[in-house]
Amino acid sequence: MRKTTSPEATKQLAGTLAPYLRAGDVIVLSGDLGAGKTQFVQGVAAALGVRGPVTSPTFNILLSYLEGSLPLHHFDLYRLDDADELEDIGFYDTLDADGASFVEWGERFPDALPYGYLEVRITVDAEGNRVVRAHAFGDRARCLLTVWAKDSKSRL
Ligand code: ADP
Ligand code: MG
Repeated sequence: MRKTTSPEATKQLAGTLAPYLRAGDVIVLSGDLGAGKTQFVQGVAAALGVRGPVTSPTFNILLSYLEGSLPLHHFDLYRLDDADELEDIGFYDTLDADGASFVEWGERFPDALPYGYLEVRITVDAEGNRVVRAHAFGDRARCLLTVWAKDSKSRL
């Protein structure tokens, strides 16, 4: 668990995850609207060397950034009506492909999530600070969480 008191601190924490990401990694970001999920992805993108603006893919569902040290795929499934549409938007193919995938609102479609993934849950406390917690599912995600927690010096 790690508390962040500003958007910059959330981005910085996210940036500490970036060096450990590999192709095929899936990170499910959960938390209410405005919790900071997109801020988190912005921090990862910056640390990977993505230079352009990283905006919310709420309307596009998927935005990919290929210019960093690892391809970054950013999904926002908030507006997706049906799990059947996931195939059409290339969800499964993208998760298996060349980069790391971050999925906002992935918990809306639990059956669509892969066997292994890292869940990062962001909540807002009474003071407006963000509380970031992570849970690993599968061996690879456990490994990722271990090195990230060591680097960020928190238990997460
Ligand atoms: P989400 O993608 O979860 O809907 P966003 O990342 O788009 O949320 O927005 C988070 C909002 O909360 C931003 O306007 C950001 O400036 C604000 N904010 C305030 N404090 C924090 C913090 N500690 N971490 C992240 N965002 C914060
Ligand atoms: Mg968002």
